[in-house]
Amino acid sequence: MGIFDRKNCDICGGKVGLLGGKKVKDGRLCSDCAKKQSPYLSSRKNFTVDEMKQHLEDRAANQEVVKAFEPTRTAGSSLKLYIDDARGLWFLTKAKRYQEVNPDVFTAEQILGARVDIEKGTRVETLEKAVPAKDGKPAVPAKTKEVIYHNFYVLIDVSHPWVNQMRLQVNNSSLEGGVSHPDYKEAERDAREIVDALTVMRDVAMDEKQAKAKPKQRVKCPHCGASTMPDENGACEYCMGMIG
Ligand SMILES: [Zn+2]
Ligand SMILES: [Zn+2]
Repeated sequence: MGIFDRKNCDICGGKVGLLGGKKVKDGRLCSDCAKKQSPYLSSRKNFTVDEMKQHLEDRAANQEVVKAFEPTRTAGSSLKLYIDDARGLWFLTKAKRYQEVNPDVFTAEQILGARVDIEKGTRVETLEKAVPAKDGKPAVPAKTKEVIYHNFYVLIDVSHPWVNQMRLQVNNSSLEGGVSHPDYKEAERDAREIVDALTVMRDVAMDEKQAKAKPKQRVKCPHCGASTMPDENGACEYCMGMIG
């Protein structure tokens, strides 16, 4: 095998670049196919060509769901949660024209949990560089100061064939100077708003599921007095009288 051998993409058959394309467990993808994958997919190298084919088919189906998606409300500002209440669907993205990035769409039932994750750190900022000793003058040490920064993330666990967890940054650049940063409150509010909306969505979906699964209760029929299980029309199973 010569070093100039061109290889083909195992998904679409197209030529892959001289650098050999994007590797998967048992093959390779061209960059066009790799671009279509979900940004939440954990390491591509863990997947086989067949799995990637399935994944890209699912992504194409997702694109159709995105096209049909009609947002009824949103939460957040930069990172935005879009909710389609009629369909019980949602997705998160920073893209203004979300159709172009094909964000993974989830159902309310797929939400396992959501919480705000605040990263706090410090970094050392150099105010004045150190000056080495020169011409008999002593060295001057650098002037530095410690800068505190915060980043707000939403951490969402989902039950989905290709996505387990999303950790998405709410603020665009790290918030230096702590709580006093002008964007701190906004980032905190956005993160909270997104998490609350998802939590409520999940709770409503779970309540509905439980209500459906709950066995119907026997009631005393006001017409015939029998202990009866009302039929789907709410009628007594013995005398057919309407109950409640
Ligand atoms: Zn390809
Ligand atoms: Zn009855």
